[in-house]
Amino acid sequence: MTETDNFFRADLHCHSNRSDGTLSPSEIVRLACERGLQGLSITDHDTIEAYPEALAEARNKGLRLLSGVELSAVHRNTSVHILAYAFSTHSAIIKEFCRNHFRRRKNRLLLILEKLASAGIPLTEEEVEPKGSEEFRSVGRPHIALAMIERGYVASVKEAFLRYLGEGKPCYVPGEAYSVEETLDVIGAAKAFAVIAHPHLIKDKDVLKDLLAMKFDGIEGYYARFSPHEHARWVKIGRKKGWFITGGSDFHGTIKPETALGSSWAGEEIFSFLMERFEENQANSHA
Ligand code: AMP
Ligand code: ZN
Ligand code: FE
Ligand code: FE
Repeated sequence: MTETDNFFRADLHCHSNRSDGTLSPSEIVRLACERGLQGLSITDHDTIEAYPEALAEARNKGLRLLSGVELSAVHRNTSVHILAYAFSTHSAIIKEFCRNHFRRRKNRLLLILEKLASAGIPLTEEEVEPKGSEEFRSVGRPHIALAMIERGYVASVKEAFLRYLGEGKPCYVPGEAYSVEETLDVIGAAKAFAVIAHPHLIKDKDVLKDLLAMKFDGIEGYYARFSPHEHARWVKIGRKKGWFITGGSDFHGTIKPETALGSSWAGEEIFSFLMERFEENQANSHA
């Protein structure tokens, strides 16, 4: 099938410039329409700040937009990403959790900058987070990598992660950790759904085994540009658990140019199921 065929696709994983994507929330909504997507969720890292703007633009364009966020957790000293969907965008619980993550990220930035300075790569907070920028931003390692490129320390984001910022590299700092269990509690309290993000990327067998025994509702079986063969494993595992299967591209804009919006997606049945809960939560609950 080609992009112009009118079959249902909802991309349930992408990042705006409220975290480490390069497009604004409205630009992503417009791009989703151009790509012929019928549904979308913007899943920034640890923030839902994209939603006021994204919801307004989605209403204008007639795109069905589902609330979503990609929450950072740590399990067995390994970073684990958890997608949450269908919470109210006014949810006090989700907002408070994101505020805690915002503080964690600010503190972690300072710790990473200290490590970089000791490695002979001095950078100021201002170079990573320019003051006076209008938009809220959930600051992450990709922003540090961009500042390193700007100063000529490395040639690419990839090099920055490979040599300094990636897990286990000399300037990696996890920061204060939130466990998977407490993250699942927050998601449950907000009457939202919890999904294991990109299981394809989980290398540690024990971590995977533990996650599969926890109270998730779904698994991201279709991810980015992985092949149908690689998807099959996760779809099978998800079905066996009785979980729903989601899909998304993990689009980040030009910071990760190889991944296009809509390169993986969820189908209509699951999307409508999630949207129904979202609409209920949006109407009833500020919990
Ligand atoms: P953070 O949320 O600050 O821990 O940064 C994690 C984000 O950095 C991921 O979601 C990716 O967008 C990006 N990232 C992680 N590993 C790499 C890598 N090896 N190369 C480029 N980007 C990466
Ligand atoms: Zn990211
Ligand atoms: Fe992720
Ligand atoms: Fe992501």
